[in-house]
Amino acid sequence: MDARSRAHLRAQRTPAPGGQARPARGEKGPEDGGRYLMPSPRALSLGHGVELPGHHAQSQAAPAPASPPGPSGEGLDAPAPRPQAPPSERLGVGVGGSFLQASLCSLRNLLATPPQSPLLPSGPTSPRLSGPLPTASSLSPLLSGYLGPAVFWEDGILSGYRRPSSSARDCVLSSFQMTNETANIWTHFLPTWYFVWRLLALAGAPGFRAEPYHRPLLVFLLPACLYPFASCCAHTFSSMSPRARHICYFLDYGALSLYSLGCAFPYAAYSMPASWLHSRLHRLFVPAAALNSFLCTGLSCYSRFPELESPGLSKVLRTAAFAYPFLFDNLPLFYRLGLCWVRGPGCGQDALSASHGYHLLCALLTGFLFASHLPERLAPGRFDYIGHSHQLFHICAVLGTHFQLEAVLADMGSRRAWLATQEPPVGLAGTVAALGLAVAGNLLIIAAFTSSLLRAPSTCPLVQGGPLEGGMKARQQ
Ligand SMILES: [Zn+2]
Repeated sequence: MDARSRAHLRAQRTPAPGGQARPARGEKGPEDGGRYLMPSPRALSLGHGVELPGHHAQSQAAPAPASPPGPSGEGLDAPAPRPQAPPSERLGVGVGGSFLQASLCSLRNLLATPPQSPLLPSGPTSPRLSGPLPTASSLSPLLSGYLGPAVFWEDGILSGYRRPSSSARDCVLSSFQMTNETANIWTHFLPTWYFVWRLLALAGAPGFRAEPYHRPLLVFLLPACLYPFASCCAHTFSSMSPRARHICYFLDYGALSLYSLGCAFPYAAYSMPASWLHSRLHRLFVPAAALNSFLCTGLSCYSRFPELESPGLSKVLRTAAFAYPFLFDNLPLFYRLGLCWVRGPGCGQDALSASHGYHLLCALLTGFLFASHLPERLAPGRFDYIGHSHQLFHICAVLGTHFQLEAVLADMGSRRAWLATQEPPVGLAGTVAALGLAVAGNLLIIAAFTSSLLRAPSTCPLVQGGPLEGGMKARQQ
C-alpha cells in the first residue's frame, strides 16, 4: 500500500467532527440501519461474522503492520521447526513438509501471530477457526473503505470492494453491479466472444480446413478465447475467500501460459525469418514454448506465495513469469525488426506488417500498466471504478491479441503459395501431443499449488488473507 493510500485510510479512521466516534466494527452503526453486522477485522480473518471478546479495545488501536518484518526472504525461507508450537501448527514440517507449504506460511508468519491474545486461536483446530466465512444471502453491499484482508487490497483503489466472503451467486450478480472489479470482468468477457466469433468464422470459411497450413491459426485462437474467459471467471469469483482468490488466479495464469504456447504455433509456421527456416531453433521452437509454459505457470503461481511478506519480490517474479515467454515467442519478430532496421526497405518478406507493430506496442503498454499501477497510483481513489491500470491492462491485452491475429494472418497470406508446398513444422500428431502435454502439465502444476494451499492451516496469513487494516471503519454504500 503506498503512502497516499495509507494517509487516506488514516483520514477515514479519524472520528467524525463533533466527537461522535463511529461504532466499532462488529457493532451495528447508525448508517447501516441494522441491516448488516460488519464482522470485526480479526473475526473476519478467522472466518467469523461475530465480534470476539476483547476485540473492541484492539480495534481502536493502531493498525497492525501490513506484513511481518523480517531480515530477508520472507516466505521463501526453508522452515525451521518451532518447538513450542503444537504439531498442527508446524505446517510445512508436520503437514507434508513441502517447500510450497513452507513458503506459504513461514515460521516468521507464525511467530508474528501473538499466541497470548484472547482473540487468537490456539491452533488450526480451534472451534473459532472452524466456521465458514460469513456469506451474504443477497447481493452484498459494497465497502467504501478498505475493510477486507490484505490479499484483496489493490494499491491506489480505495473503494468499491466486494465482501471478501461473497457467495458464488453474489459474485455473479456483482458483475451487474458497479464494483471495482466490474470493468475487469467485462473487459475480458466481451472479447472472449469476439475471439470465439473470429475462430468460428475462420474455421467455417470455404476451403479453410482442407489446407493443413491453416491449423496453427486455430491452435492460436483456442487459447486466445480461453485466456480472457479464464480471467473473467477469476475476477468474478475472486472475492469468495482468500483461498478461492488464489485458486482463481492460478487458473488465470495457466490459461495465459497456454496462450503463450498458442502464439508459438503460428509464429513457427508463418512468421519465422527466411534465414531461420528449418534451423534447429525453428524445429525446437514449439517444444521450447511448451516447456516455457510450465515455467510460466509455476513461477506465476508461486509468485502469489510471498505476496504479503515481500510484495516487491512477488511482483518481480510474476512479471518475469510472463515477460520471459513473451520475449521468447517474439524472437522471430525481433530478429525481423532488427534485420529491416539494418537493411532498410530491402528486407522483403521479413518486413513486419503494421499489425505486428501495433501488437508489440500493445504488449509494451500491457507490461507498463501491469508494473506501474498507473494512473491510480498518482490519484488514489479517483479511478476505483473506471480507468484503473488493471482495466487498461485488460484492454491493451485484448487489443494486442487482435493485432497479433491480424499480423499472423498477414504473414500467412504473404507466404500462402510457399506454405501450400511445405509440410507444416509441427504435424497433426505433434500438435495434439504438444497441446495435450501442455494442458496436462499446466493442470498438474496448478493442482500442486492448489493442494498446497488447501492443506495449509487456517492460521497461515496468506490463507486468512493477511493482516487486516486494523480499526479501519467501513461504511456501507
Ligand atoms: Zn485481470
